[in-house]
Amino acid sequence: MSKRYARLVLAVVLAFALAVGPAASAKTPDCSEPGCAHVAAIGTTHYDTVAEALADVPASASEPATVQLLKPTNESITIATGKSVVLDLNGQKLTDNGVDHTITNNGTLVIQGSGTVDCETHARGALVNYGTCTISGGTLTRSQEAGTEGNANGNSWYVVDNHGMLTVTGGKIFNTSTYSSLLRNLGTLNVNGGEFENGGIVIKNDEDSGNSKIGVLNMTAGTVKATSTNGQAVQNWATATIQGGTLTGQVIGWSYEGVSSTLTIKDGAINGNLFAVDFDGKGTDTASVKVEGGTVTGMVNTGAYSNGAIQVGAESNSSISLTGGVFTHSVDVFRSGLAEFRDPGKVLISLKGGTGIRVGDESSAAASVYFRRGDFIPDGFVAYYESLQDALDGAGKEADPETNYEGVVTALKTPEDGTVVVPDGAVLTVGDQEYGAGSYVVKSGALQKQEPVSETPATSTGRPNPSTGVRF
Ligand SMILES: [Zn+2]
Repeated sequence: MSKRYARLVLAVVLAFALAVGPAASAKTPDCSEPGCAHVAAIGTTHYDTVAEALADVPASASEPATVQLLKPTNESITIATGKSVVLDLNGQKLTDNGVDHTITNNGTLVIQGSGTVDCETHARGALVNYGTCTISGGTLTRSQEAGTEGNANGNSWYVVDNHGMLTVTGGKIFNTSTYSSLLRNLGTLNVNGGEFENGGIVIKNDEDSGNSKIGVLNMTAGTVKATSTNGQAVQNWATATIQGGTLTGQVIGWSYEGVSSTLTIKDGAINGNLFAVDFDGKGTDTASVKVEGGTVTGMVNTGAYSNGAIQVGAESNSSISLTGGVFTHSVDVFRSGLAEFRDPGKVLISLKGGTGIRVGDESSAAASVYFRRGDFIPDGFVAYYESLQDALDGAGKEADPETNYEGVVTALKTPEDGTVVVPDGAVLTVGDQEYGAGSYVVKSGALQKQEPVSETPATSTGRPNPSTGVRF
């Protein structure tokens, strides 16, 4: 047989193989070849592509089929409606085909194991979910992301776009974009674990009211981190509840003409600012933020968006209600914001009900100040200060002759030797001793008044400011 003839025979064989279709050779039952070239497996049956393995999963099966990756592969896959699949990444990498999202789920999908789901293509994601999906492991990312603030730079999109029911219990969803959000939610998103990280917006809990889609976000655990200065760990345009977990970056409830939002913080840690912001300043819809628990280390305030930035404290229809929680930022932040809204009937931040609010870290504090808020927080709130003098200064700023308000400062540690000044309107309690306004020399924990000051009669009615009905 000449070499030319051999090639001709081979060509005929190949043509025949193509004519009968790839299905004939796609599936190898009980593949036991070590280091075989197959890409995916269901049990001991191996497949040339992930799509072929998925095609072999029966619809409406009572148990999900586990499809395991065997090799890194460039393939975009779709889980069909009615199919239930566990995709075990098995330390491998699944990358898109350059055209479609890497994974489109219309059925029931669990993504588990270590490994990576990557999307390298512009305007495509690693996962688009229309069905029910759980992420318990792996890293989902867009490794070629180029988006920077205000510019996609030819390659940018969400890593995950959810229109169905998505629950994250583990794994990592990661990107570096300051153009695209990491995850857009237009369905139900349960964050019960896992790590989320992006440059700009991490979780965009969105709405598409024109298509009757309203994102519902429930977070109980996990970490969400925005790495850029003005990044938002959560950008809420719909309904979000934070009951646990750690959010680093700003957490902002937004409103837009025709769109109101509700963000409720019940527990968890927010390491950043917490704002309620009116995007377009039209003021007919409300961004509502309610804090019932948890900790917030940044500013807490309402605002409006204009000139490309959040104008903190600017008049808007946004609202923040605080009925609990621990705030480690200065009390002055509340006051500076609140002071903008003295007009009667325009109390945009309401401090009503609840069991009081703690500001600062009790464990390391030198002193506490009890701020009585009358109608606003019946039980008042307590601020903790790192230094006794800071506490006294804070109490002095709160003092209000119009309401005969007194700030009560309690030393939590033995005062250090030196001098303390108790301002007008403040009372310092050290042990069972009370000290009124004046300057004191502190020696071995004992206070000695430095100079006489005129006594101010202390009458405390707790009445609200008669001119406004409110007292800030
Ligand atoms: Zn094999």
